[in-house]
Amino acid sequence: MDSCPTATMPPPWDNFTGVLRHWARPEVPTCTSWGAPIIWDGTFDPHVAEQKARRQNLTIGLTVFAVGRYLEKYLEHFLVSAEQHFMVGQNVVYYVFTDRPEAVPYVALGQARLLRVKPVQPERRWQDVSMARMPTIHEALGGQLGQEADYVFCLDVDQYFTGNFGPEVLGDLVAQLHAWHYRWPRWLLPYERNKRSVAALSLGEGDFYYHAAVFGGSVAGLLKLTAHCAISQQLDRERGIEARWHDESHLNKFFWLNKPSKLLSPEFCWAEEIEGKTEVHHPRLLWAPKEYTLVRS
Ligand code: UDP
Ligand code: MN
Repeated sequence: MDSCPTATMPPPWDNFTGVLRHWARPEVPTCTSWGAPIIWDGTFDPHVAEQKARRQNLTIGLTVFAVGRYLEKYLEHFLVSAEQHFMVGQNVVYYVFTDRPEAVPYVALGQARLLRVKPVQPERRWQDVSMARMPTIHEALGGQLGQEADYVFCLDVDQYFTGNFGPEVLGDLVAQLHAWHYRWPRWLLPYERNKRSVAALSLGEGDFYYHAAVFGGSVAGLLKLTAHCAISQQLDRERGIEARWHDESHLNKFFWLNKPSKLLSPEFCWAEEIEGKTEVHHPRLLWAPKEYTLVRS
């Protein structure tokens, strides 16, 4: 992993919180080699970020897909927990993409928060549902979502919030360190290695392994990201190839070519089954139990 700030590099700076207190977490990297902050619990002041976002009267979008059985299984818990922890006190617009708009559960929303349900086609394979998110989000960003939101977070539905997930996460291009892989050596990371795939990274490439369950950014940043991934997936499809981890492989290639401006520590998308990680102080979002036989068969 990249080293912490050195004498030649200034301490990490975050647009929403100012200079990060990287000294508060000496045991973990808080800055990438290209100077982007990696935010860990204790390195930022959530109140400073909240006030800054309030002063700018920002609207923050959240996209989530609940297609097929993922709707009954995960959506309500996801939304109810988001009401408790996601961008509390800010203007929020949820975009729920589903093949069954009528089945979206009613969830009481706080002030200045609204939910839009957007119909999408079901796909035959779960991998296709996952990958279809890229062109769909791209189209939404070019339309109403892009007009009403300043920043957008794009999340998997099979998880739920357990702690404050506020404006400290905002940035032009925000990537999530994968809970399983953040300590692995680069050559072991599960990037696509088949050179015929647009997503391919060679053994010497890649900075971190990012989790596609959480990414975010400004509307402009995400238009670029989703266009890259949608086009790359289509090119692979035309060649009869599917990248190892689908949209996540293309996302990792995009972030190799276009460095994220901010990284979220694994605390922002944590898997409870991972044991013995004392550096994870305050999980914000937890993976729901993966009941693949129930939702994918
Ligand atoms: N998804 C969905 N229906 C499906 C497959 C996927 O709604 O049949 C959406 C859902 O938001 C899910 C995301 O796509 O969280 C990614 O799929 P999944 O979570 O199964 O992938 P994993 O996290 O296991 O890589
Ligand atoms: Mn998931």
